[in-house]
Amino acid sequence: TKRHFSTSATRGSSFNYSTRSGSGGSITATLFPGDGIGPEIAASVKQIFKAAGVPIEWEEHYVGTTLDPKTGSFVTYDSMESVRKYGIGLKGPMATPIGKGHKSLNLTLRKELGLYANVRPCLSIPGYKTRYDNVDLVTIRENTEGEYSGLEHQVVKGVVESLKIITRQASMRVAEYAFHYAKTNGRKRVSAIHKANIMKKTDGLFLQCCREVAEQNPEIVYEEVIIDNCCMMLVKNPALFDVLVMPNLYGDIISDLCAGLIGGLGLTPSGNIGDNGLALMEAVHGTAPDIAGKNKANPTALLLSAVMMLRHLNMNEQAEKIQSAVLKTIEEGKYLTGDLGGNAGTTEYTNAVCEKL
Ligand code: NAD
Repeated sequence: TKRHFSTSATRGSSFNYSTRSGSGGSITATLFPGDGIGPEIAASVKQIFKAAGVPIEWEEHYVGTTLDPKTGSFVTYDSMESVRKYGIGLKGPMATPIGKGHKSLNLTLRKELGLYANVRPCLSIPGYKTRYDNVDLVTIRENTEGEYSGLEHQVVKGVVESLKIITRQASMRVAEYAFHYAKTNGRKRVSAIHKANIMKKTDGLFLQCCREVAEQNPEIVYEEVIIDNCCMMLVKNPALFDVLVMPNLYGDIISDLCAGLIGGLGLTPSGNIGDNGLALMEAVHGTAPDIAGKNKANPTALLLSAVMMLRHLNMNEQAEKIQSAVLKTIEEGKYLTGDLGGNAGTTEYTNAVCEKL
């Protein structure tokens, strides 16, 4: 079956193309160009959307370098209100400001907007050779708690403690999302990834929640895989997996491992999903300071994130058109960026995609 870069598993979503069209027939979405290569790859998305005739207006927010007293972060209150208002957004990478007491921009956005699931489809790109040509899996990462709760302190000199928080509420929510995703995307199996043999209470609770949801979805095959074994299996034979659901830190690591299976960070999109259909899509990679401003960045990961955004909005025709132009450009191999072994600039690659629309 033909796979898509999709997130479309949100129950009760009211963000449906037909219901959200304004009087001019267009939809407004928030755009965070971000830092480093962010503005260059965001420009590429804007150019391709325009060329494809996608009826989306962007409300751009440059997340600033001054602390917003309302959010205690560099993410401004207005920028978060924009995502809440439109319910949909696309985000470039953001550098975490270095210094004490500054909350990560990414963590602030996920927490404040209640983006509880991070969905990363990982598909072999036809024509771009890696060790495997049959990777077709999706990692679903709990996005709000676990080791990312930010609760760290020194107990006594030379001893520090970091708290891993797992709640029934967040675990049920992400497990339900994973099974619903599997069902609505024609997937057969959900694997819960854990280390409950050691983290008996925390990962134990996460697994318990996954089991409960599995019992309510008998049509989906359910299995539990210990994370270290999962890494070994993924590297040996990624075709063993379909949908993987896991706590926050494991998801961070496993999804980068999966990105490596298909050709690296320049190619992997993701979606952050919240309640009532709210979604903020973003590339998996960071700000790539080493190549920023040099017209060297590969915009594919952000473009495919934008394709996920279109599918989330049920704009499937436009999503398909852009996805297919991107994949054809890569398969043709004439205008590849440096990370894929070519010497095209961001703008040449973008123009090549536009010509294939
Ligand atoms: P990175 O992903 O920015 O870069 C890692 C390597 O991959 C670099 O060599 C870079 O040139 C390359 N690369 C990444 N994206 C690419 C693209 N689209 N095209 C071509 N090459 C690409 O990771 P890093 O250097 O560890 O992090 C840099 C900054 O990004 C840090 O401040 C970090 O906090 C931030 N970051 C942000 C996000 C996010 O906003 N979601 C995610 C990861 C890292």
